[in-house]
Amino acid sequence: MAQECSRIGHKLGSISVRECLDRALVDTGARSVRGQAILMKEYPPLSGKRKPIGRVLLIGGTHGDEYAAVSIVFKWMQTLDRYHSGMFHWHVTPLLNPDGLLLHRPSVRLNAHGVDLNRNMPSPDWYNQTAAYWKSRGFDPRRYPGAAPLSEPETQWLFEEIRSFRPDAIVSVHAPYGVLDFDGPPVGPTDIGYLHLKLIGVYPGSLGNFAGIQHEIPVITVELPHAGIMPTHRQISNMWRDLIHWLRHNIPKEKTVKAYASFDAITERLEASSPPPAKRKKTQAQHSSAPVAAKRSGSAISSRVHINTQVIH
Ligand SMILES: [Zn+2]
Repeated sequence: MAQECSRIGHKLGSISVRECLDRALVDTGARSVRGQAILMKEYPPLSGKRKPIGRVLLIGGTHGDEYAAVSIVFKWMQTLDRYHSGMFHWHVTPLLNPDGLLLHRPSVRLNAHGVDLNRNMPSPDWYNQTAAYWKSRGFDPRRYPGAAPLSEPETQWLFEEIRSFRPDAIVSVHAPYGVLDFDGPPVGPTDIGYLHLKLIGVYPGSLGNFAGIQHEIPVITVELPHAGIMPTHRQISNMWRDLIHWLRHNIPKEKTVKAYASFDAITERLEASSPPPAKRKKTQAQHSSAPVAAKRSGSAISSRVHINTQVIH
């Protein structure tokens, strides 16, 4: 932890080594491709206080070159360290992609396998859909989805974290598009501080698609306006205030609680809808000989895929 805080403090202009150390992050045991720890801090229910309204997973640094998206999560942790009231049960991971941020100068979007972690989550018909998306981006190496869903240790950790912690909402911070996006059971917040809701669409392999659409967990994507310039203190605290306000009035959602009861079944159906290329032929043959069964197996997952022309998180 000390080593990683030293690297973080030397990389981020807004977070000192001391500030990182003071957060007392804990090693999850998970490792990035290059063996760096994925760190987390838990703000648990407080004994003697009322039961938390819900569980929230807060994630920064999915893309290693979005510096402000890591720094602001550290700033919000500072607030939680001071004022955690037990209203929510938090898991906070300020840096999902330590290799992207810390091992390159300048930092890079992708993990050390060159994979875009926000295209590597399971979603319907993953192989075809992510390939089509990647092709539509001109095979941009910055958007490479990986060889298979959850091929990366960082996304494997994220998947297990969602499965075991069962967050009622996920907040994921990115940059630099300056908007707010929302996936999951409607309706999301219209404003978080100076950011306004703009539904961007659903990407194959994205966290919003996986968690929001498939597993019906509200996913709030905060897209800060600049990757390298931090919002002001006032903007940072206004965003936090609005975020808490929305969470307080909107979670837990009944749909989310229900969907968790069939988390593994939804995962299985996702896998069935995304056969690896080698097995695809066989599955197609099965589908044509048993159309009813195939239809039933695919009916419970949403294959709503809408690829926006705008490139975002
Ligand atoms: Zn991003």
